[in-house]
This record gives sequence, C-alpha cells and structure tokens, in this order.
Amino acid sequence: MRVLVVEDERRLAESLQWGLEADGYAVDLARDGGEGLRLALEHPYRAIVLDIMLPVLNGYRVCAELRRAGVTTPILMLTAKDGEHDEAEALDTGADDFLRKPFSYLVLTARLRALMRRGGPAGAAVIQVGDLVVDPGRRTCRRGGQDIALTAKEFAVLECLARHAGQVVSKMDILDQVWDMAYEGPPNIVEVYVSALRRKVDAPFGRRSIGTVRGVGYRLVEDA
Ligand code: CA
Repeated sequence: MRVLVVEDERRLAESLQWGLEADGYAVDLARDGGEGLRLALEHPYRAIVLDIMLPVLNGYRVCAELRRAGVTTPILMLTAKDGEHDEAEALDTGADDFLRKPFSYLVLTARLRALMRRGGPAGAAVIQVGDLVVDPGRRTCRRGGQDIALTAKEFAVLECLARHAGQVVSKMDILDQVWDMAYEGPPNIVEVYVSALRRKVDAPFGRRSIGTVRGVGYRLVEDA
C-alpha cells in the first residue's frame, strides 16, 4: 500500500517514513506543496498525509487542487496551530480528517487505517474471489476459512491482484501500486512475490488461482 507524506520538517518527515515503512507501507516523501501535488496527481496512492504549512503551495491549496482534479485519495491533514479555524478549513478544502501536531504515531496510523477502510473509490471493503477472502482494512487473508500469514508486501501484491480479479494486471502496475519511487531494482521483484503468494495462497489448497499471462502480467481468478 503506497502512501504519500507531504511534510517539510525533515525530521518529522523521515520519522513518519521510517515508521510507516516498518508497518509495511511504501512511502514517497514530498518536501513542499508543489512536489506533493505533482506526485499525488501522478501516482495511485492509497492515502496522503498532508502538512498545512508548506513551502511553494500550502496544504489547503494542494488539497483543493487535488479535489478539483477529481483525485479522491483519502487525505489526512496535519494541523500545527491549535484553533478550530485550521481544522474547519482543512475539512472544507476536501481533507477527510485532520490531526493536530504534536501527535502520537499510533494515533496517526490508526487514523490512516480508518481512512483507508472507508475512503477512496476502491474503498477497503472485503474482497472475495471464490473462497479466497482478502480484507484490506485488517490486512488479513483467508482461504476456505483458514488464515494465511502473509508479509506486508505479499499482502499488498495480493490486494492489488484481488482488486482487479479476473483482469490482467501488469508487472508495472503492481510495481507502481506496491513499491515506492525509491525502488530502483528490477521489475522481476514482482515475480518473486507472486511465487511466494502461490506457495502460500494456492499450493497448500491445491489451487492455481494466480495465473501468468505471458508477456503481460498476472491474473487472479476463482480457480483454474
Ligand atoms: Ca510544515
């Protein structure tokens, strides 16, 4: 799950990135509002953490521009000053939630999970493909009622396939949605994760639900 953090305070930005990555998110950082807006328009983030006081373009403007452009990604705004004005304005410009600085990291991640559960066009409703159940809100996966333990990245790849069940998803699309911009390794990394998923999600159950479409990508089906 790829998220964008737009924050110009370097130490805060880096600690957020470090913490979120440890939780299994792929994180892109933007240091000013202009860069944040550009990245948010270009990439398929699941959520955006947006500071208000930013160089180039403030958080309100970034948020308003994104909504004007039809981007519905859930936005959590960080408000620095205390005062109801900030928070009301954050919601008015199209933010989904706000968090007052200084905040606890645990509260931030809980709010993010809540936003992803209810937000965005794809939402985070439970996805069912045959007897395979993928729950993006809880980040759990089951087949025929049996829990399957997946790493954060494995889950993210499976979620990506499940959201487009029955359709071919290209390796580049998976890379774009699951890995952050800093990833510069080969696209073959996707193959490694798909193999791991097959070992966990298919093989023990005698299934072949994750198909390879040669030269194109992968497709998750009920069963094959
Ligand atoms: Ca700031």
